[in-house]
Amino acid sequence: MTKPATSDPTRPTSEKNTQKSVRKTKKKRSVSARKHTGDSFFVAQLASRARRDKVAAPTSFAQLKATLLKDYLDEAQIVEVERAFNYAKAAHKGQYRRTGHPYITHPLAVAQILASMRMDHQSLMAAILHDVIEDTGVAKQTLGSEFGQDVAELVDGVSKLSKIFKTRAEAQAENFQKMALAMARDIRVIMVKMADRLHNMRTIGVMGRDQRKRIARETLDFYAPIANRLGIHHMKVELEELGFQALYPLRADRISRAVAAAKGNRKVLMDEVRRSISRSLMQEGISASVVAREKHVYSIYRKMKAQHKSFEEIMDVFGFRVVVSQADECYRALGIIHNLYKPMAGRFKDYIAIPKANGYQSLHTTLFSMHGIPIEVQIRTKHMDAVAENGIAGHWLYKTSNEADFDSSQQRAREWVRDLLELQQRAGNPLEFIESLKIDLFPDEVYVFTPSGDIMELPRGASPVDFAYAVHTDIGNRCTGARVDGNLAPLSTQLQSGQYVEIVTSPGAKPKAEWLTFVVTGKARSGIRHALKSQQQSEAVELGGKLLDRSLASSNKSIDNLDFRRLRRVFKEFGVRKLDELLAAIGNGDQMAYVVAQRLLAVDDPNYEAVSIEHDGPVHLHGGEGLVVKYARCCGPVPGDAIVGHMTPGKGFVVHIETCANMTEIRRRKPSEIIPARWSATTRAEFFTSLRIDLNRRKGIIAELATTLTDADANIENINVEERSAEVTSVVVTIGVRDRTHLARIMRRVRAIGATISIVRTSS
Ligand code: MN
Repeated sequence: MTKPATSDPTRPTSEKNTQKSVRKTKKKRSVSARKHTGDSFFVAQLASRARRDKVAAPTSFAQLKATLLKDYLDEAQIVEVERAFNYAKAAHKGQYRRTGHPYITHPLAVAQILASMRMDHQSLMAAILHDVIEDTGVAKQTLGSEFGQDVAELVDGVSKLSKIFKTRAEAQAENFQKMALAMARDIRVIMVKMADRLHNMRTIGVMGRDQRKRIARETLDFYAPIANRLGIHHMKVELEELGFQALYPLRADRISRAVAAAKGNRKVLMDEVRRSISRSLMQEGISASVVAREKHVYSIYRKMKAQHKSFEEIMDVFGFRVVVSQADECYRALGIIHNLYKPMAGRFKDYIAIPKANGYQSLHTTLFSMHGIPIEVQIRTKHMDAVAENGIAGHWLYKTSNEADFDSSQQRAREWVRDLLELQQRAGNPLEFIESLKIDLFPDEVYVFTPSGDIMELPRGASPVDFAYAVHTDIGNRCTGARVDGNLAPLSTQLQSGQYVEIVTSPGAKPKAEWLTFVVTGKARSGIRHALKSQQQSEAVELGGKLLDRSLASSNKSIDNLDFRRLRRVFKEFGVRKLDELLAAIGNGDQMAYVVAQRLLAVDDPNYEAVSIEHDGPVHLHGGEGLVVKYARCCGPVPGDAIVGHMTPGKGFVVHIETCANMTEIRRRKPSEIIPARWSATTRAEFFTSLRIDLNRRKGIIAELATTLTDADANIENINVEERSAEVTSVVVTIGVRDRTHLARIMRRVRAIGATISIVRTSS
């Protein structure tokens, strides 16, 4: 058999092919009927149901027009829908479905589903045209000029959505359905796609075993939950029942038989409860419809599996729905019913005051009815019932109903939807509308693809760094860049739903403190903090070791040749447990190296004199020390400057220019805190220092200065402009330079600008 390009049962095949495939399918079916004795009877049933005209081709256009469309569309709109129908019919000419019906019957059936939900005429046109782009090679632009941009966008959206569904990875149902919703630019796209799937499921019986199972599972995993999320109850139920039957025909049959039997047994009791509720309400002047709620096969199956309950336990609970006209009657009805039967404690829920996220409103309560049999009762108004059944579409459905019986809360719900619709029309660009709709559906999430095609859920505003840490802490710690949809992007980029994200890592890379300013996930935040802390810790240990060795050197000792027992005795005194902690304390500036050295040496010799700091060799600096060594902002030392170090508690080792004004006071009061320092022969970093430049004011002078600095390879970190007088502008600029020679060259260049009056380093 020539397989269609895809597994979609509606994908058209050429006439010749179809005739052949129908014949072959029949033949194959009879073979498999002999092979799979368990399911085969039910599979044959599914297939024959799918081929029935009422299921596969439920309507003609004339019929649809005469019944549903005339009900709620105006003449001009119906003409538009008819034009779309004629166009699609011509485009699909010669194509057939596996059921043997002309292809056009499928889009027409999809339109009928939407028309019964009173969807607008553009949605119906999109439904009728939904396979035209993909299956007949008509371009989106062509549809645009033929039927307007809105309809073309809808059809294109449906095609794109179908493609996403095909590329999805397995077992990510929850994320996937959310992503699909978040990506659809117009909620009507989802509605068309859902109706498409519903009709496909009604005719699933003609598919081969593997495809039938796969499509059924996909329906249960993705489509039914989306219908639920949108609050379209009847669609959710039908998708679940059809999906379950197609996936497990035998189990579905057994449960539905058991349901039918149980219903017969309980019918008398159910009727009695229903009548007594009805009567009590009537006596209090509330006219209500009271119906016993149907139990659905798939939901019973799911409860049996998930809650490990027996079929009897689940069927033991009876459900009733009470539908009244006004919201205040809901509460009155609740009181009356609670008076009739004893309510079960803690089971009352008020979804009228606090609706569910999908807009569902109702009162829920559980009571002990006759003979103590528990019953679940839902109480709501007609409008709430329409919304509960049709969700978002319920608002369309209710448009034509009588305005008079709206109470204020229903009115508000209606206004909310009307506002959204108006916003969409006014904006001309549906994005704003979708944004507000999206906010209601997913306030705080984005969904992106990993390179392996998995979907990752992240909070809104998440960056590639958040993504990297979500994949693995090691990836986060070593990330250096990101590709978003194949293009290099800054690590601070805010990710959008549907993007493909790939992290660039390098083995030696380390997290940066500034990442903390844009990451939004706890995992990234704590990952970065932890890495920075251990980085700082190991650097502090290294520096502490250098400083302590330097202090010990005057007595010809070093850490390596100290006696361990001797060290241990000193630990207690400094409140540490091991050598690394002691060294870190020194490196972080919490302990003075010379004090520690003195204690260590005095353990042997109580008369030991304090080491004189003049004997200590200088600390060598190269600029790549990392987090423990800091270069003072007050004076901005650069290689070549005469420097000293100052141990500052909590900050560690801070390098100043020897003549820095801030050192003068310290040198006088606590000379021991000043540590001699030298530059290493090679330095390997950028050092920041500030220049004060006075300039004659003239147009464009600041720009000229900035260009001069950049041309001289100075990295401008900050620039502050101060108007000194009408003639003079004073600029303080902080620049990154390599060393004193580099700085001198920069200053020479600036002096060469004609307008420069003076240039000095702020430290001098
Ligand atoms: Mn279709």
